[in-house]
Amino acid sequence: TTTTTNNIIEVTEKYGARNYNPLPIVIAKAEGVWVEDPEGNRYIDMLSAYSAMNQGHRHPKIIQALKDQADRITLTSRAFHNDQLGAFYERVSKLTNKAMVLPMNTGAEAVETAVKAVRRWAYRVKEVPDNQAEIIVCEENFHGRTMTAVSLSSNDAYKKDFGPMLPGIKVIPYGDIQALKEAITPNTAAFMFEPIQGEAGINIPPEGFLKEAYDLCKQENVLYVADEIQCGLARSGKTFACDWENVEPDLYILGKALGGGVMPISCVAANEEILGVFEPGSHGSTFGGNPLSCAVSVASLDVLEDEQLAERSLRLGSFFKEELESIDNPKILEVRGRGLFIGLELTEAARPYCEQLKEKGLLCKETQQNVIRFAPPLVISENDLKWAIGQIKDVLKA
Ligand code: PLP
Repeated sequence: TTTTTNNIIEVTEKYGARNYNPLPIVIAKAEGVWVEDPEGNRYIDMLSAYSAMNQGHRHPKIIQALKDQADRITLTSRAFHNDQLGAFYERVSKLTNKAMVLPMNTGAEAVETAVKAVRRWAYRVKEVPDNQAEIIVCEENFHGRTMTAVSLSSNDAYKKDFGPMLPGIKVIPYGDIQALKEAITPNTAAFMFEPIQGEAGINIPPEGFLKEAYDLCKQENVLYVADEIQCGLARSGKTFACDWENVEPDLYILGKALGGGVMPISCVAANEEILGVFEPGSHGSTFGGNPLSCAVSVASLDVLEDEQLAERSLRLGSFFKEELESIDNPKILEVRGRGLFIGLELTEAARPYCEQLKEKGLLCKETQQNVIRFAPPLVISENDLKWAIGQIKDVLKA
C-alpha cells in the first residue's frame, strides 16, 4: 500500500528531484487552518504555503467558485476572450488603484513580467540607451526561481552553477536609502523590492524607508516596483505592505493568495504609461488569465474583503507577537513582524525547533537557518491561535 506516511515519502523521494527538504509529514486533507496526515493526526498550518493560503484551506466560497467555473469553461487561451478575465481585471484594478493588469500564473512569472515592463518603459518612455537599462534590487531579496528571478538574487545557493546571469542588476543593502541614492544612474529603470522581505526572515525595513525611497524614485524618474507576492493581500495586517507607509507603488507584483491557495494566478498592476508598453505579440502565457483562475481569484479577493482579513491579521498578529516577546529564553534573539507575518530569530538552528513544534501539532518551516516563520492562515480563530501559542511556549521555554 502507498497510503501511509512512510510509504508516501518513500515513493516521493525515490522519483523526485531533490530541490526541497520538507519536514517528514504528509498532508492529505485540510480545512481552514487545520491539516491532517494519512494516519489522521491533525496539525495547525503555521506556514500557509508561504502565504498563499491567507484565506485558509478550501474556503467554501472559493471552492464553490472553482466548482461552478469548472462546470462551464476552464481554459480558452488568450487567442479568444473569456467571460471571467474582465471581471478579474476590474477587481484587481479597484484593489490596486491601477488602470491596467497583466495576468500570469506563478509569482516568478509576474516578476519576469515586471522586469520586461520596466525595461521597455526605460527605453520607450525614459529614453535610456538601448540595452543599458538597470534595475536596483535589495540584498537577501527573494523574487522566485526563474533565471531572471535568481539573477536578481544575492544568495549564492540560488545562483551557483546556473550562470550566466541576467545583466543590468545592482544590489543595495535592504533599507539603505543612502545606498539607493548612490546606485541610481540616468539608466536606472526601477527599484524593485519586497516591502517586507519574506524568505530573508521577515525583515522589516527601517521606519520611513518605504516613503523616502518612493520620494527618491519620483525625483529621479525611477519606477518604484513592489513585490507584494508574499507580504501583500492582507498578510502584514494591511491590504499591501506598502500601506504601512502610505505609498502607492508604480507597479504591484501580486501572486500567491491572489488565487486563495486554490489556483495559481499572479499579475502585475500598473498604469497605462507602464503596462501600455506591451503590444500584441510582445508577451504572454497560455494559462495566464484563464477563466478558472480568474473566477477563483475574484472569490479569493471577495473573501479577503468580506472577512476583513487585513484587520484580523493586524489584531491577531499584535497579540501573537506580544505573546512571543513574553517568552523568556536567551536563545531568542528577536521577534519581528507585522500582522500574522512574524519571524522569531534564534541564536541557533531553527530546524530542530520546527521538528519539535511538529510533534506538538504545529507545522512551521524555518527560513534561513535561524528564523522560525509564523504565518498561519488569516482566518485562524482566537482559540486556535491561543492553543498554538501554548504549544510554542512549551517548545521555546524548554
Ligand atoms: N516574490 C516573493 C516575494 C516571494 O515570496 C515568492 C515566493 O515565495 C516569489 C516571488 C515567487 O513566487 P512563485 O513561487 O509563485 O514563483
